Amino acid sequence: MSLVYQGADQPVTALQDINLTIERGAFVSFIGPSGCGKTTLMRAVADLEHPTSGSLLVNGVTPEAARLDRAYGYVFQAPALYPWRRIEANVRLPLEVMGFDKAEHAERAKRYLKLVGLEGFERKFPWQLSGGMQQRASIARALCFEPELLLMDEPFGALDEITRDRLNEELLRLWRTTRKTVIFVTHSIAEAAFLSSKIVVMSARPGRIVKIIDNDAPPERTLDWRESPQFLDVAHQLREALNEGHAHDI
Ligand code: ADP
Ligand code: MG
Repeated sequence: MSLVYQGADQPVTALQDINLTIERGAFVSFIGPSGCGKTTLMRAVADLEHPTSGSLLVNGVTPEAARLDRAYGYVFQAPALYPWRRIEANVRLPLEVMGFDKAEHAERAKRYLKLVGLEGFERKFPWQLSGGMQQRASIARALCFEPELLLMDEPFGALDEITRDRLNEELLRLWRTTRKTVIFVTHSIAEAAFLSSKIVVMSARPGRIVKIIDNDAPPERTLDWRESPQFLDVAHQLREALNEGHAHDI
């Protein structure tokens, strides 16, 4: 697929000739310089943008049908929690909007808050939580209606490295336990290499795929795995592909 924005002065080719299959249950990261179309691609999956040419299927149906089928949960860079709602009420918001059975709301919110390690914080307001905890709450909110696909656009980009490391481990555990398909955007080579089963390297202007790297990492890995030769090899391949993508740009 390709996607061209009609900008104010001239058209912007945000995505050009993207040809990609994401297997069910994969953890796929997109990495590339700012402006290479990562958010656009994710928004196209979420039916918020539409390909100018070519097509895109989500779980075998159109993005629109997948959206109506509640196929995906979206986690943004900022947690985007409502300050006047308690954490529990923020998490169950999609259940209210989607018209889930009222009797289920509290149980689901509790279950997913526990899954992201926020048990006991249900009654707090967002501003009473750290940035990392707020982001965990927004992950619980994206999971509580049990979408098959989790779309995460630089979810940990605004966090300090120590918090990001911890959340990386937790996200990996979540992925293993829930078996969701995760589409993840990041600027971090370490994050992409640590988390992903597949990494898509993109280049800017026009946004296209430079390289797809399969990452055969052990499923039960912890942060220590980042010191293994296998991790270093993936990180090296990523760096080379990013440089190659950048070279086209000059
Ligand atoms: P990334 O997430 O990789 O930083 P984006 O997908 O946000 O990249 O943007 C890709 C390109 O499309 C950029 O050049 C950006 O300026 C442009 N773009 C994004 N959204 C719009 C829009 N609504 N209208 C026009 N141009 C846009
Ligand atoms: Mg973006």
